[in-house]
Amino acid sequence: MDVDEHAEELASALGVDKAEVRSDLENLLSYSVPIDEAKQSVRRKHGGDGGGGDATPTTKDVADVTPEDGNVTVTVRVLSVGQRSIQYQGEEQVIREGEFADETGTISYTAWEDFGFEPGDSITVGNAGVREWDGRPELNVGQSSTVAVETTPVETPYEVGGDSDLVDLRSGDRGRNVEVRVLESEERVIDGRDGETTIRSGVVADETGRLPFTDWKARSELREGHDFRFEDVYVREFRGVPQVNLSEFTTVTPLARDVEVDDEAPRMGIAEAVGSGGLFDVELVGNVLEVRDGSGLIERCPECGRVLQNGQCRSHGDVDGEDDMRVKAIVDDGTGTVTAVLDRDLTEELYGGTMEEAMTAARDAMDKEVVADEIRERIVGREYRVRGNLSVDDYGASVEASEFERASDDPGARATALLAEVRS
Ligand SMILES: [Zn+2]
Repeated sequence: MDVDEHAEELASALGVDKAEVRSDLENLLSYSVPIDEAKQSVRRKHGGDGGGGDATPTTKDVADVTPEDGNVTVTVRVLSVGQRSIQYQGEEQVIREGEFADETGTISYTAWEDFGFEPGDSITVGNAGVREWDGRPELNVGQSSTVAVETTPVETPYEVGGDSDLVDLRSGDRGRNVEVRVLESEERVIDGRDGETTIRSGVVADETGRLPFTDWKARSELREGHDFRFEDVYVREFRGVPQVNLSEFTTVTPLARDVEVDDEAPRMGIAEAVGSGGLFDVELVGNVLEVRDGSGLIERCPECGRVLQNGQCRSHGDVDGEDDMRVKAIVDDGTGTVTAVLDRDLTEELYGGTMEEAMTAARDAMDKEVVADEIRERIVGREYRVRGNLSVDDYGASVEASEFERASDDPGARATALLAEVRS
């Protein structure tokens, strides 16, 4: 339901002008007021009761809750409870988030006050607001809601507690627990909301996969090669891939066992990978259709790192560019295409020479393009295995390659290897 539909519904319930309702709503939403609170406030302004709206909340099964429900009452088991502090209308506020479930399904919630429930509790939540997030309904448990403890446990097939494998985590998850090995870890200073902030970020892995993490409290014990249980993490998308976030409320406990980590990245079809919207560390195999313009020898802006076009940076104008090498190769596996972006090291490997050698070749030919042409000659029409992080934006899908190699099951590669053997 968009603002216009909410305005329509409200205006007809209150018998007032829709344009006026819509402008009131938009004003409140621009201050990040959740839609159901905004609607209540508009109702009050126009003489509606403001409490539950045009109807008393109905009692529903979780699976039947839809974003069209204004307010509902549900009887549920608490699966997980995560805490997070957010900026709300200019003030810091601690909220609780996680999942509820009954026999029919699960639903995410945000509680704006501490109602005191814990994972495993069975409760009836009265007058919870319903909002839509990422196409799914969510419950908003606020001032006008009630929470009552049920003495009979609510039966549910879903696991209580929030323990998760990395492969199952998705952006938007919260109140999750994971057991991981820290593979990479680095302290960094960033320019955050409250000025300079020290954070720790890197990569964690478990038996099922690996994901980037950020610890907003920069805990120094999160060193490479150590195994931990993290309780109460949340997942957000960062640079197109899901990221595990540790907050001040996350507890970190060293593990007595070793976490088995797999060095291989999961291999996927390109269409399936692109359809996921973003993946950390995936392996794709396909034919190189084309080496795009802007490959080979390039120049970057010394200030922002953007690739210069005719000596010009899009942001900084005429600058003294820094030399670099890269390849942007279009890879196709029959199900879809991605652009593989290779850094200087991988590009030098493909070219078969250093950047200095490439620059000498360009000077001799009086044409920079000879380097890109040489790379084209080598890779177009051949099958490659590319590994890296995949992200999808308005310009399409791209993989920031960490590995780019001839596919080993490629007959052409086998022939070349055989020839080389015969010749030596
Ligand atoms: Zn620049």
